[in-house]
Amino acid sequence: MIHRLIAALIACSGALLAQANPDWHKEFPAFKIAGNLYYVGTADLAVYLIHTPQGNILINSNFKQDVPALKKSIESLGFKYGDTKILLISHAHGDHDEATGVIKADTGAKLEVMEQDVADEESTRRGRPGAHVDRVLHDGDTVELGGSKWVAHLTPGHTKGCTTWTSQIQEGGRTLNVVIVGSPNVNAGYYLVGNKNYPGIAEDYVKTFAVLKSLPCDLFLGAHGAYFDMKAKYEKYKAGDKNAFIDPEGYKAYIAEREKTFRDEWERQKQHPGSPKQ
Ligand SMILES: [Zn+2]
Repeated sequence: MIHRLIAALIACSGALLAQANPDWHKEFPAFKIAGNLYYVGTADLAVYLIHTPQGNILINSNFKQDVPALKKSIESLGFKYGDTKILLISHAHGDHDEATGVIKADTGAKLEVMEQDVADEESTRRGRPGAHVDRVLHDGDTVELGGSKWVAHLTPGHTKGCTTWTSQIQEGGRTLNVVIVGSPNVNAGYYLVGNKNYPGIAEDYVKTFAVLKSLPCDLFLGAHGAYFDMKAKYEKYKAGDKNAFIDPEGYKAYIAEREKTFRDEWERQKQHPGSPKQ
């Protein structure tokens, strides 16, 4: 019992440290990535806007406190926050979904979430959005609006319903494969061995890496800007390099590095069960 309490306290302090990331709530200039795909998130918490003649899709909502920055970003591009028709998420953690209920209430957008994350999305537990899910998604389902089509890939482990979004975007006469990585990360305090709340978590990560390696990728994006080195790429983009976010090699290297980190941690936990990294 005491052991579990200590583990919970350590996990909590890890979460508090993560909360202190100064980029999470820092405003960032909104910009066009390619075609009808735009970045409207903060300096690290990524929100993507897909503009269509029938209204807009948003991927991720961020924390409630980030909503004013999100509105400002959307409006700076000449779009309307009220035109948000569909709301999607990378996974059910507060940094990507805490504001889903607020955005739904403000705009009437439909919330579409991967089956295995629905309970956490609708939960009214502290820090959870308590937002009704209008459509339950399954692996391979598509979300379509105004000629845009996005595919939901179940990439579980980080959460049970963690979702990687893909699409094809037309830009400058080219068709670009877009991948928005849900999360390949093993957080502090995650039990990969003997996890009673999530049996099979390690096997899910293994499946996720197989899926991520199978996806064709030109435009490499993710739930956090840090996944794809957004700030450095944005500087190149601002300097005139409109292809700054096209990075198939960076994608492969990132997935390979994350898989190695996961496998090393899994091996370590097999040797030392009950002591996840902090
Ligand atoms: Zn997360």
